[in-house]
Amino acid sequence: MKIKFCGGTNRVTGANYLIETDKHKFLVDCGLIQGKNVCELENFESFPYEAKEIQYVFITHSHLDHIGRLPKLIKEGFPGYIYSTLPTKDLAKEILLDSQKIIEDHCLFFQKENFYNKENLDKVFQRWLTLNYYEKLNFDGLEVIFFDAGHILGSSFIQFKYLNKTIVFSGDLGNIDPLLRQTDELPETDYLILESTYGDRLHEDLINRKDILEDIIEETIKNKRTLIIPAFALERSQEVLYDLISLIEDKKVPEIKIYLDSPLGIRILRIYEKYPEFLNETAKKFFITRDYEKLNYFKIIEQGSIKQLIEDKLPKIIISSSGMLKGGKIIDILKYFIDKPETTILFVGFQVEGSLGKKILEGEKEIILDDKKYQIRAKIEKIMSYSGHKDQQGIIKWVEPQRKRILKTFLVQGEEKAKINLRIRLEDYLGIKTIIPQNNEEIEL
Ligand SMILES: [Zn+2]
Repeated sequence: MKIKFCGGTNRVTGANYLIETDKHKFLVDCGLIQGKNVCELENFESFPYEAKEIQYVFITHSHLDHIGRLPKLIKEGFPGYIYSTLPTKDLAKEILLDSQKIIEDHCLFFQKENFYNKENLDKVFQRWLTLNYYEKLNFDGLEVIFFDAGHILGSSFIQFKYLNKTIVFSGDLGNIDPLLRQTDELPETDYLILESTYGDRLHEDLINRKDILEDIIEETIKNKRTLIIPAFALERSQEVLYDLISLIEDKKVPEIKIYLDSPLGIRILRIYEKYPEFLNETAKKFFITRDYEKLNYFKIIEQGSIKQLIEDKLPKIIISSSGMLKGGKIIDILKYFIDKPETTILFVGFQVEGSLGKKILEGEKEIILDDKKYQIRAKIEKIMSYSGHKDQQGIIKWVEPQRKRILKTFLVQGEEKAKINLRIRLEDYLGIKTIIPQNNEEIEL
């Protein structure tokens, strides 16, 4: 059996791994390579394998950097089926379609053949089969089981067994999440392909994140402010909304108007409502017993202008995307609110270097939105522990029970520094042989 690291190596994004046995040739994830651009130029290079020879693709979760090159795989003749959990398929549809315009624009801009057209996208969904967590599938002697990764709705880590060898792909591993269950325990593992996004970091404020949010809401109400929360449409918007509504219902804070102004975020919220059995017990009860859309203080803005937000002079909270202010409806909202001293902007997610979000967070006094200058008079706050990834300590704790069994761990999906740091911890603390594979490196297992 051999593994080839076709992506997720020299970049955090673009997860794509090929496994070959005497009988099988399959992929785990087929993600888009992303960086400064939503779709980097490397996405147009050929896959380092023949798409026509691939039998199956197993998808860990629906983030674009794990699914975004599926249309390309189809275009290059992939004849097989794609497998994931049911929510992953539903979410993938939203995520893939939402990115269609921007990726097609990139294809045009780079003067490359468009792999992301409707025809290829349609074929992706036609070839996509679903399964449940813990269901044992057997592909000609290859046993496959999906476990709950607790990262986003439907997210999985996947265990493969073939001829007495067991390989686990971690996908992305969840942090403590208000909506999801904890990551399942790592089952028996000989070879572990491990994500390392936060391999060199520890999350702060993990326990008291809701208390910090409570303080910020209280201040918003007291001083009649507008609280703007930029949040990723997938998972973060729903997490924050859930925390806000819980705080109101538990009477920790008075009622305050909450606007969800993110069309994709709203569609995704409806997918969360559709799959309560994939949520943790508290969130499940919450979703089953409440009709969000009927709460009198909660307002969904499907495609209206920001007029409604401007006219509402009462203290209010606006959740909108994108989370790093890379575009989306939030830009129009900022144009009106960012130069007002009675605005608070609360960042709840990682801001990548060079993003508008990062600049604001670092104290920039002036920004440009659609070619126009705006003064930043808004108050800036952050709660960084809303991360969707385990930190170094979380990863180590997850791996530890299998430390005696694991023969090798391969670190992927992280910056170089994060991987080196995590390798030191895994080797010194757990005594696990740890490898940082290079792009397209092939290793015999
Ligand atoms: Zn992810």
